[in-house]
Amino acid sequence: MIRRFGNTEIVRNNICIIGKAVFILAHVVSKSEMRHVSVEELRQMASDCRESIWAQAQAIGRDPKIYLHWTAGHYGQFWDDYHVQIDEDGEIYVYSELDEILSHTWRRNTGAIGVTLLCGYQANTSDLGPEPPTAAQIEGMARAIEALADALWLTICKEFVTTHGECADNETNDWCHEDYGPRTTCERWDLEYLQTDESPAFNPWAEDGSRGGDVFRGKANWYHNQRG
Ligand SMILES: [Zn+2]
Repeated sequence: MIRRFGNTEIVRNNICIIGKAVFILAHVVSKSEMRHVSVEELRQMASDCRESIWAQAQAIGRDPKIYLHWTAGHYGQFWDDYHVQIDEDGEIYVYSELDEILSHTWRRNTGAIGVTLLCGYQANTSDLGPEPPTAAQIEGMARAIEALADALWLTICKEFVTTHGECADNETNDWCHEDYGPRTTCERWDLEYLQTDESPAFNPWAEDGSRGGDVFRGKANWYHNQRG
């Protein structure tokens, strides 16, 4: 999703070309277009789509994926390019059926579920700005990840549960595009740090579990273990 037009070469028919990357422009949608769900309702929705999502992914030689984002927008501001959206109070909203192909993660949208935090307006790599991820929001995303991974029969590990920042730099084993993440061009660095005690600062090379993706996977695995 693009809300920065400095390097934009072409904007036409909702297609936006920035450098070598092509993005579909996203739109704000009203809260009334969203379905507010419990964690268990989300688990059921994902379970109902399991076969369809696996079939989509396998048809192009991939595994199903869960991609984690932030919107770089406002709290309470919903969008049409993520399946699952977590508001500032940690409540979970669903935009579409989970096997619908939305434009959340460039060249990675088939057989993939896009999950986002509604936050990050004016965030930069030294300060997450006036609307950073809240504690409730972080827990809400971790619960959503647990439910989705459980329903899709995926292990909660970096290979299947990946932040936009991590996959933008092709940190997993599936090269899909030139790198454009926090280690390279920094066009996308969603959730690289959370400005919390566990994830205090931008460091895409950290190996101490302080990157945002590590925090979310750790918390989601904690919820998974609680279920026994
Ligand atoms: Zn993103």
